[in-house]
Amino acid sequence: MMLDFFPEDIKPYIIPKPRSGQHYKCLGCSVEYSIEKLLYVCPECNQVLLIQDKKAKTLQKIPGKTWQKIFDFRKMLKIPALKGIYRYHEFIGPSIPLESIIYLGEGHTPVIEAGESLKETIGLSFFYKNDGQNPSASFKDRGMASAMSSIKDLIDKNLVSDVIAICASTGDTSAAAALYASYLGPLIKSAVLLPHKKVTAQQLSQPLGSGAHVFEIPGVFDDCMKIVEHLSTQYSVVLLNSKNAWRILGQESYSYEVAQYFDWDMKDKVIVVPIGNAGNISAIMNGFIKFYEADIIDCLPKIIGVQSEHADPVYQYYLEPDETKRKFVPVDTKPSVAQAAMIGNPVSMPRVIQIRKEYNAIAGGRQVFFVQVTEQSIMDSQLLANRNGHIACTQGGECLAGLIEALKKNIVTNNETAILDATAHAMKFSDFQDLYFKSQIPKDYKIDSDLNNINQPSLILPDDPTIIPSQKNRLGEKNFQNFIEDISGKIAKRLDLTTPL
Ligand SMILES: *Cc1c(COP(=O)(O)O)cnc(C)c1O
Ligand SMILES: [Zn+2]
Repeated sequence: MMLDFFPEDIKPYIIPKPRSGQHYKCLGCSVEYSIEKLLYVCPECNQVLLIQDKKAKTLQKIPGKTWQKIFDFRKMLKIPALKGIYRYHEFIGPSIPLESIIYLGEGHTPVIEAGESLKETIGLSFFYKNDGQNPSASFKDRGMASAMSSIKDLIDKNLVSDVIAICASTGDTSAAAALYASYLGPLIKSAVLLPHKKVTAQQLSQPLGSGAHVFEIPGVFDDCMKIVEHLSTQYSVVLLNSKNAWRILGQESYSYEVAQYFDWDMKDKVIVVPIGNAGNISAIMNGFIKFYEADIIDCLPKIIGVQSEHADPVYQYYLEPDETKRKFVPVDTKPSVAQAAMIGNPVSMPRVIQIRKEYNAIAGGRQVFFVQVTEQSIMDSQLLANRNGHIACTQGGECLAGLIEALKKNIVTNNETAILDATAHAMKFSDFQDLYFKSQIPKDYKIDSDLNNINQPSLILPDDPTIIPSQKNRLGEKNFQNFIEDISGKIAKRLDLTTPL
């Protein structure tokens, strides 16, 4: 829709104008830094940063109802910069001029309600938000669009040049980083570090296809992360891991979209999210807080963070009920099918600790919960979801397993509605489905294949296996007719097709 046709009261706000106000703030010593520098940790105390908006209070000058109208009407714009996460420009990146925004189709992913049968099986109404339908097939594109747009802004302002962007990844960050960097080539070159044999074949193919430098490193993600950190302290590189506070900011769009999808009504809503490096849960909590403070939503939804028993440092931390006695201890991970969340020492732990506290304080009671699930339940839940029309990855399966666990523990009741984050597309993790169906998941995952869940292709051969069509040798008419009838008969038998036409 053209601007002329928008209602008068919101017309002045429809196209956002860039403004100052954003700065880095250290979570340790609270010192603030300019966003015109590349910065990942506090130079004073080495703690992680968040991007804050000094002028956030001015957002409250516009009534919440008007914001809702602005965002609903912005849906109809055809300006690429405002079609993705920057529909919420004032909340996501008010300093970024529209010309610097990179839009590759991220955000506004479908929200799909569980069908009747699945709903009945689980015992409450729930939705999957399919973040696997982002351009590189995971939610990481949200943060990457934000980080890359901020870099493009610095390039456009001649504050940086010849950028080498680098990240460690459990697979999806590198796919997103390589994709967005390649779009900006040759301004940006990207290098990704992956734990050798700890990402799926699809995830490895993505940065290769985007032309990134791909390095495989022995060990697990946490080891790769240490190398990236070392490189970033020795050389001038742009760090694209979720240490980069812009990543967190962009991922806040998930909450804004959920709020908008449910017409800004967050009452009795439960957000279920897997935790790896803990960037996503930090962003999601932060996003809801910001919308609450701007009066766009009038209550905060319940948040449930899910971890596998094979990578559960955040869950372990919150097991201690006495806040003063809690002590963060990294864990050594064990093999997990929720491989993208297989992290023992989450970079964003300080963010979780601070934002969770703030979230509960604003909500006026406990509203953030953590549950732990078995590897078996992750895999079984993923298969269950996908046999009912969803496209959840293993981490999406982890969310459903977490919802089931939360119901069991009475953290959630059946008059609430859950929104589960399918953080990546099922196809990225089909390696695990294949292994499950072949009953070949290695022992240390602690997963047995349930025979009822297994699905394998059946090769149907004719009685005479020498008379078969091939590209080179086409069968004669009679042989081909026999072949058709033979194979059809065998399929009909398998399918119990007994009713004639
Ligand atoms: C990165 C990732 C996660 C974990 O998110 P964090 O922000 O690291 O907690 C979960 N699922 C998928 C598919 C991911 O790529
Ligand atoms: Zn500091």
